[in-house]
Amino acid sequence: MRMSKMYMPTLREVPSEAEIPSHQLLLRAGMIRKLVSGVYSYLPLGYRTIRKVEQVVREEMDRAGSQELLMSAIQPRELWEASGRWANFGPEMWRLKDRNDREFCLGPTHEEYFTDLVKDEIRSYKQLPLNLYQIQTKYRDEKRPRFGLMRCREFIMKDAYSFDIDDDGMREAYQKMWDAYDAIFTRLKLDYKVVQGDTGAMGGKISHEFMAMSDVGEGVVAYCDHCDFAATDEKSAVVYKTREHSREQLQMERVKTPEVKTIDALVEFFGTEKYVFGKSLVYSVQGNPVVVMVPGDRELNETKLANFLGAAGHEIEMADEDMIIAITGANKGFTGPVGLKEGTRLIVDKRVTEIANLVVGGNETDYHLKNVNFGRDFTGEVADDLLMVVEGDSCPVCGEPLRLARGIEVGNIFQLGTKYSTSLGATFLDVNGKEKPFVMGSYGVGISRTVAAIVEQYHDEKGINWPLVAAPYHAIITVVNSRNEEQAELGEKLYSMLTSFGVETLLDDRNERVGVKFNDRDLIGVPVQITVGKKAAEGVIEFSLRSSDNKEEITVDKLKGRIEGVFAEAGLKL
Ligand code: ATP
Ligand code: MG
Repeated sequence: MRMSKMYMPTLREVPSEAEIPSHQLLLRAGMIRKLVSGVYSYLPLGYRTIRKVEQVVREEMDRAGSQELLMSAIQPRELWEASGRWANFGPEMWRLKDRNDREFCLGPTHEEYFTDLVKDEIRSYKQLPLNLYQIQTKYRDEKRPRFGLMRCREFIMKDAYSFDIDDDGMREAYQKMWDAYDAIFTRLKLDYKVVQGDTGAMGGKISHEFMAMSDVGEGVVAYCDHCDFAATDEKSAVVYKTREHSREQLQMERVKTPEVKTIDALVEFFGTEKYVFGKSLVYSVQGNPVVVMVPGDRELNETKLANFLGAAGHEIEMADEDMIIAITGANKGFTGPVGLKEGTRLIVDKRVTEIANLVVGGNETDYHLKNVNFGRDFTGEVADDLLMVVEGDSCPVCGEPLRLARGIEVGNIFQLGTKYSTSLGATFLDVNGKEKPFVMGSYGVGISRTVAAIVEQYHDEKGINWPLVAAPYHAIITVVNSRNEEQAELGEKLYSMLTSFGVETLLDDRNERVGVKFNDRDLIGVPVQITVGKKAAEGVIEFSLRSSDNKEEITVDKLKGRIEGVFAEAGLKL
C-alpha cells in the first residue's frame, strides 16, 4: 500500500479520556476511531490487525475440530426467557423492539441461540460431539465502557459452543479448547496466565480465564510461584490466618465514640487490632437490605457474596443512607449485628464467628459495642468465605504466600453442563434410546480486546511495536526524499519486489518531512523498517527493526534474505 493513498488519520493530540497506552496509541496511529462511548470503528490499519488476530483464532479453532458459522446478532426475547437470562442479564443487555412491538436483544453472547440451533437437528448420540464457533460483533451496554478497545459496548468476539453426550465428553471438549487457546495466545506472543474464574452469569461450575498480564488490566490474578495455583481475585479461595486471641468472652459494653470515624481511629481508640472490628456492610440485594460482616482487616468480595445469595452481580449494590437508617436507626458508620431491625438478613463470614470480643457498630449514632460475640450476642447465616484475597495470603493449595498481579481477560472457557440444554429442552437420544440433555461448554475470545492487550505488551514511548504475527503490515519502506528520482524509483522497485514475495509492505511515498515519516512509522509499529536515502544510487539501503535500535546498511540483494530471517525468527512462513 502506498501511504500517499492510504486512509490513516493519525492524531497529534489524544483525547484526555484515553488513559492507557493501547487506547492512546490505537487512536494516534489512526487504527480506530470512536463514534460514541464504547463504540469504535476499525480503520484500515486497525482492521488489518483485527483480521490477523481473527485468522490465528480461526486456524486454531479449525485445528481443534470446531466448525465456523455466523449467527444473527439479533435474538428474540423468548429464547432468553427460556433460560431465565432475560431478567438475569440485567442492564448490560441491549434490548430493542420491532415495529410490531416484539422484543429482541442484540446478542451479548450466544448460549441460548446455539442451543436452540442444534436442538431440533441433532437427535442422536451418533451425531455428537459437536463444536461450533463464530467470529461476530457482540453488544453489551457496559456500565463503564472505557480504555478504548478494552471494554466496549460493541466488540468482536469469537464464541464457541460444544455439545457432548456426558460430562466426560464435555471435559474433553474443554481441554481441547484450553489447548487451542494456549496455541492462540502463544502464537500472538502474549505473556498470559490461565487462571480459575468465577462462572457468574454464564452458569456452570468450572471456568478458566486467559489473562494477558498488564498493569493496566482490569482483572486481578492471585497466583502462586511454588505450585500452579492461579485464580482471579474474585474466585480465589482465601486462607485467613486466625490469630491468637483470648477465648474468654467478656461482658458486652456500650461505648460512646462520637469523634471516632475511621477504622484506624477506632483501632487507636479501642487499643485493639484491626481484625477485631467486625465490619458490617449494608447491601441492597434486589431492593432488600442485607447486612454482611467480615473481619475489620479484610475487604468483602462482592462476587462471593452474589454467589452465596444466588443473585446476579447487577442485583447487588451498596445500600443508600435511607436504607441504612431504616434498619439500624443510626447514621452510616454505626451499623452492627446487635439490635438490627427485626427480620433483617445478616450474613456473617465464618472468620468473624471465630473472633472473640468483637468491636462493632452500635446501631445507634455515635456508639459502638465492645466484647460482642457470635452465638452469644448475635447470630446470622454463616458463609464459608466472603473475603477478597490479598498479597501474601497463603496459597489454598500449597500454603506458600500468594502474589497478586493485574491482567486483561482475553479469553474465557466454561463448563456449562446442562443449564441451557435443560432449560431450552435440547435433548438427544443416547445409546439406549433414552432422551438426554446435551452437556455443553462455551468458549470466548475477545478479538478486539486482544488487539488492545497486544498493544499494552508491545509498545514504547514512540508507539506500537507489533509482533510480526499481528502487525497490520510486515514491512515499511521509507523514502527519505520522495522528490529525489533515484530514491523514489528504488522505493518503488523494492515495493513491488517485496509485495511479489508476499511481504505485506507499506511504501511511504508521501511528500512529508522525513522526521514525520520516521515518527509515523514508529507510531504504527510495522516490524521491518527499510529506509531508502542518499545511497539509493549505489543500491544501498538502511535496514532496521522496530523492536531494536540497531540500524544497518545493506545492499538491495540482501534484503530478501534478511526479511526471511525475521519471519523465521517469528515462527512464520513467507
Ligand atoms: P469481563 O469480566 O471483562 O466483563 P466477561 O467475563 O463478561 O468479561 P465473557 O462473557 O466471558 O466476558 O466474554 C468472552 C470474552 O469477550 C472475554 O474474555 C473478553 O475477552 C471479551 N469481552 C467481554 N466483554 C467485553 C467488552 N465489554 N469489550 C471488549 N471485550 C469484551
Ligand atoms: Mg462482562
